[in-house]
Amino acid sequence: MAGHIYYLSFGEGKLAGYLIRCTDCGLNLGVDPTRYATAEKGRVNDVEVLIQKTFPGLKIAYADRLRLEEQLKRTPAAVTPEQRQTFLMEPFGLVNHQVEARYANSSQFDKLSGLGCLGTLLVGVGLFFVSLAFKGRTQD
Ligand SMILES: [Zn+2]
Repeated sequence: MAGHIYYLSFGEGKLAGYLIRCTDCGLNLGVDPTRYATAEKGRVNDVEVLIQKTFPGLKIAYADRLRLEEQLKRTPAAVTPEQRQTFLMEPFGLVNHQVEARYANSSQFDKLSGLGCLGTLLVGVGLFFVSLAFKGRTQD
């Protein structure tokens, strides 16, 4: 985190935290790097290999959750309405901070929208100047 003027920062700033980014969907999540033995930069297709390299204690840390998911795979009807609602809301909770950050800065355009807006303005201004070239008789 550093102060800046139009994205030009002055000084070193201070560490605000760490993010982990999903290479498939681009989701950023806050992360505690001390939980991981190492970071895998390349693509690993075998999730068990990835767990052994990066987070060997994952199955202990998430034992309750993994046990619950195995139980639900075997007997999906055993989910209570409250559990179902909690599970359905989990992905929304994960992306909530990114959605809020995106729409908090509502003047931010993506590239395509910006080009569309610029094109509309240019066409409007161009038509205005073209209309000045064709002066006819003034009418009431
Ligand atoms: Zn993802």
